[in-house]
Amino acid sequence: MIDLRSDTVTKPSQAMREAMAQAPVGDDVYGEDATINSLEERVANLFGKEAGLFTPSGSMANQLGIRLLVNPGEELLLEEDAHIVRAELGAGAAHGGITTRTWLAPRGALEAQTALAMARPNAGPYLVSTKAIAIENTHNFGGGTVQQISEIKRLYEGASESSIALHLDGARIWNAHIASGVALSEYGKCFETISVCLSKGLGAPVGSVLLSSGENIQKARVWRKRLGGGMRQVGILGAACHFALDNNILRISEDHKHAKTLATRINDVAPSVINPEHVQTNIIGLNLKELGMTSAELAVEAKKEGVFVSALGPHYARLVTHLDVTTPEINTAADVLCSILQVKK
Ligand SMILES: *Cc1c(COP(=O)(O)O)cnc(C)c1O
Repeated sequence: MIDLRSDTVTKPSQAMREAMAQAPVGDDVYGEDATINSLEERVANLFGKEAGLFTPSGSMANQLGIRLLVNPGEELLLEEDAHIVRAELGAGAAHGGITTRTWLAPRGALEAQTALAMARPNAGPYLVSTKAIAIENTHNFGGGTVQQISEIKRLYEGASESSIALHLDGARIWNAHIASGVALSEYGKCFETISVCLSKGLGAPVGSVLLSSGENIQKARVWRKRLGGGMRQVGILGAACHFALDNNILRISEDHKHAKTLATRINDVAPSVINPEHVQTNIIGLNLKELGMTSAELAVEAKKEGVFVSALGPHYARLVTHLDVTTPEINTAADVLCSILQVKK
């Protein structure tokens, strides 16, 4: 099977498993896991932040981040297709009493002015006050869109003037970094809280890190435990994350090349489905509406030929390239998808 549903499907390599087996560990709830301590420090340094906190999922890192910035009954602004509002099952409301409003952006691309125009800081006793804005880079459901650093800086400047904090959902910030050449520390300057995943493009089996000031991370550590996320000899997982950072950042450019190849091949037979110019990283969002095909139909047909794709909306299917898909497999997947989409045309 060629599994293009997500970059979360990667399995730890033999070398990664060996690194995990060798990891020095301790009780992390006591702060004694050397591998986790060094991982938290390492990731914080990459982004120029004071401290980091290892979490079992990106969702938990996001939720711990936004609850540092927004009190119960206050407001967080996001793009309509943000993972935090679409794929975290209302956690911000359920756990943190956080209310949200959303803006709509084609392919999730940030325009600072749109977000800033919605903000209502210090709205008084009658209206809800905006406390934070979250953005996603790359934007998952937007099709792997890289946010422009100029727009991020514009957002940061505007938000700072109103004392509105910024959170970065950086589950795929590594892909944004490789595609744009913008340093991780540049992103770090613009956000009070950042979540990053080691378990997406970087290929670790589990693990995310929340980054912020030392004081904020102390508070987040308490909330992580309160939510049941205090873990013990978790350096076993941290070692996989160290291995991923050592070996798997630069190779992400290969995934981006593969995604471009797939998009170009599909565009050749079904131009309405995807514009290869919109494919900036490792995600390819397919719009099947004009072909009159549902994403479920595509998923079923492709599966029969050994290719797994995600059906995310009635006519929206997603392909994601990652480190467990080789160039020959990409070519095979392109053959399979083209023959299905060509027949439909
Ligand atoms: C995957 C992902 C997350 C975190 O997901 P978990 O499954 O909770 O680790 C957060 N944000 C985005 C944009 C993602 O794609």
